[in-house]
Amino acid sequence: MSHREQAAPRGREPACLLCRQSDADSDICGEKLFIHGFCAHENCLFFANNFPDRPVHRGGLWCLHSWEIRDVVSQAAEQSCSICGQIGATIYCCRRHCDVSFHLPCAKQGGCVTQFCRPFRAFCAAHRPEQAVEATPEPGTECLICMEPVEDRKTFNTLVCPACKSAWFHRDCIQGQALHAGYFSIQCPLCRNDDAFRKDLLTMGIRIPFRPPTWEDFNAFDELGDRHRRCDASECLFPGGRQEAEEEGPWELLLCSSCAAEGTPRHCSGLRDIITSWECDGCAVLGTGPGAALTLLLPLQRPVKTQSLLIS
Ligand SMILES: [Zn+2]
Ligand SMILES: [Zn+2]
Ligand SMILES: [Zn+2]
Ligand SMILES: [Zn+2]
Ligand SMILES: [Zn+2]
Ligand SMILES: [Zn+2]
Ligand SMILES: [Zn+2]
Repeated sequence: MSHREQAAPRGREPACLLCRQSDADSDICGEKLFIHGFCAHENCLFFANNFPDRPVHRGGLWCLHSWEIRDVVSQAAEQSCSICGQIGATIYCCRRHCDVSFHLPCAKQGGCVTQFCRPFRAFCAAHRPEQAVEATPEPGTECLICMEPVEDRKTFNTLVCPACKSAWFHRDCIQGQALHAGYFSIQCPLCRNDDAFRKDLLTMGIRIPFRPPTWEDFNAFDELGDRHRRCDASECLFPGGRQEAEEEGPWELLLCSSCAAEGTPRHCSGLRDIITSWECDGCAVLGTGPGAALTLLLPLQRPVKTQSLLIS
């Protein structure tokens, strides 16, 4: 199958070559990227299990070669989704000897869990994780967000705060909350626990975007004035030195997309001008430790303004 055959008719949104959808929920699938002439959702690529070397371990999607993407797309053409039955399923359950595969936009409907944090693991309905906390809702317990009753136990669709064990939520309700609050503001509305709460949500496959809450000015972080402003490349090439940078072009300072505490002008690290997202060596390496705790794999500092990966 060539990507020409797959291209959407003129005037319509191009479809993702992995999940085959043009209008999938971008809160779950992420932005559509155009790399090497292929169109794919950011998260469909991150979760694709058959990359020889996962892109999350190599500092992002822009380091993918065109042949790697071609391979993923052609393998996807042979693999059907266990949920909708259509081809193009690139996500596999990570349990050994389980060969269930599915599309990212189909995951929730099939009760599959995709963990939106390094190392981007996915689970089928039979092997998905459960919340470890021991808790059972009192009869008549309501979801703290929509005030409708929850199920009578912890399930895929009924989640509980692991800290207070008294706050219960529907999966969709807490997912909506997480999208608004973002990584730095998500907390249990009842007991205000953030750490354990966030970790459980990520384990259960809730997407918590790495961005400031939607109710705050997106530029507020920039204005705080403590944004990292230095080139940390092993060899700085800028004539003006490590403390200087330009507004755009090869000497624009890119900050690490994970920690925002390291920076490099494109030219000092050999990055092409179209690259708008970069990860420092320390963060790129963090994703590889097999036994590392979930929390360690997550960015620890607040972000500066996120730049879109989209090129047009
Ligand atoms: Zn997709
Ligand atoms: Zn599907
Ligand atoms: Zn499985
Ligand atoms: Zn609810
Ligand atoms: Zn709580
Ligand atoms: Zn430099
Ligand atoms: Zn970093």
